[in-house]
Order: sequence, then C-alpha cells, then structure tokens
Amino acid sequence: MTVVTPPLVLTVAGSDSGGGAGIQADLKTMLALGVHGMSVIAAVTAQNSLGVQGYWELPGEAVKAQLDSVLGDIGVHAVKTGMLASPELVEIVARSLATVDAPVIVDPVGVSKHGDSLLAPEAVATIKTRLLPVATVVTPNLWEVAQLTGVKVQDERDMRRAADAILALGPRWALIKGGHLPGAPVDLLTDGTALHTFGAPRHNNRHTHGTGCTLASAIASHLALGHEVPEAVRLAKEYVTGAIAQGFPLGSGIGPVDHAW
Ligand code: PLP
Repeated sequence: MTVVTPPLVLTVAGSDSGGGAGIQADLKTMLALGVHGMSVIAAVTAQNSLGVQGYWELPGEAVKAQLDSVLGDIGVHAVKTGMLASPELVEIVARSLATVDAPVIVDPVGVSKHGDSLLAPEAVATIKTRLLPVATVVTPNLWEVAQLTGVKVQDERDMRRAADAILALGPRWALIKGGHLPGAPVDLLTDGTALHTFGAPRHNNRHTHGTGCTLASAIASHLALGHEVPEAVRLAKEYVTGAIAQGFPLGSGIGPVDHAW
C-alpha cells in the first residue's frame, strides 16, 4: 500500500474556545476538504455563543518560533491568515510569509459578528503596508473594506471601487464579500483584469459563527489541491454555503456553521 501525504495547509490565526471560528473552524474545514491542516496560534480568545469575553496575544517570539518550525521542516502548499491581533504579530507573520513560495489567503479580521474587536486599531496600517502586499487573495467583508480603504459600499457598483482600492494595496486578488448588503448576497472577485461574481441564496439560519474563517480556509485548501484562484473561490463558496445551511444552535447565542455536512 502506498501512503500519500495530502496537500499541506497552514492557518495563522486566533483560537476560539467555543470551537466555532478561528483556528478551530480552519482545521475542521481543512479536514473536511482532504488537506493536512497545521496551525500557528497568534492569539487565544475566551469566547462562546454570546461573544468574545477576552483575548490574549502570544508573544512575538512564540509566533515566530511556530512559523519557523512549520516552514523549516514541513513546508506548505497554501497559507491562511486570520486574527493577528497586534501590529507586532502582523509584522512577524508578513515577514515570514514573504519568504514562502505558496499562495497566501488573508482574512483581514477586524471585529467579530458580535462587534467585539479582535485587532488593535493601530494594526490596520501594518496589515495594509506589510501583509496585503504578500497576499494572493484578500477576503474583506464590507466593514473591513471600509476600515482598510475608507470606501463605504452601498451597492454593487461601490464593490468594484472597493476592490480597486484593495488591489492598490498590493494583493493579487481581492474577494469583496457583499453578504451585508440588502438582497441576495453577492461576492466579487477580481485581479484588476478578470471579474467574477458569486451569488448564493440567503439562508434564514442565524447560526453563522465562523463563516469568514471557513471561507478563507476553504479557498486555501482548494488552492493547495491544485485549483486556480477563481475555481478555488467557487468551490470554497459552495463549501461555506453548505456549512451555513447546517449551522446549529449552541449555548444561548449564535451557533457555528457545521463542517460535517
Ligand atoms: N474568533 C476568532 C478567533 C476569529 O478569528 C474570528 C473571525 O475571524 C471570530 C472569532 C469571529 O467570527 P464571526 O465573525 O464569524 O463570529
């Protein structure tokens, strides 16, 4: 019997004690999509279905040591970044990923659905100047677009302006998630030349905790499996739509999307 090593995908993100978002969502997505998931933990959140009760960043040297351990021996076929918490950690991660010959998916996590901040305000500038230039795909929602570019998206035309403003910061592709606009949700993917839109039916399910993390990890996984960016995004959207449809109640607040569908 030949044993084959699956594609290798790394998440650099925060832990969610409630198991719905962050590192936990990333690793579940990777398992479901048939890649080997690895994790560099940047911060630990105390979190449940009601929100984020607190978070603690890891020391920079602990984050750098985790990156060096994974990259120095195992290697990666794709990387996803999520909650990085502070300018210092963004800088360490950006510096390390600049040396990696694999696609980097940046989910520029700012706040949780409950409105809890997961990023120091002064880290936004470091994400713009240091992390986005090394990104293959960046996946902001409309709130994160406004935070990164100042563009306030009201309709689909604004989404194109927003994508251009994001691309001007240096990533190869921008995926603008329009899920917060009224009407059927549409996401827009562009590299400045090609333009793809992805629609999905709006589910009534309110148990959507972990959606953004899951989408970015699914894109990274499908890139590691050998797909080009537009197809990886299409497949990742399909995965997250299924996961949202099966999102389940947990605690007394908002439950997570389900990866066992
Ligand atoms: N907790 C962690 C560690 C995260 O990385 C994120 C989002 O990326 C969240 C919570 C927020 O998840 P949501 O906005 O889906 O509730």
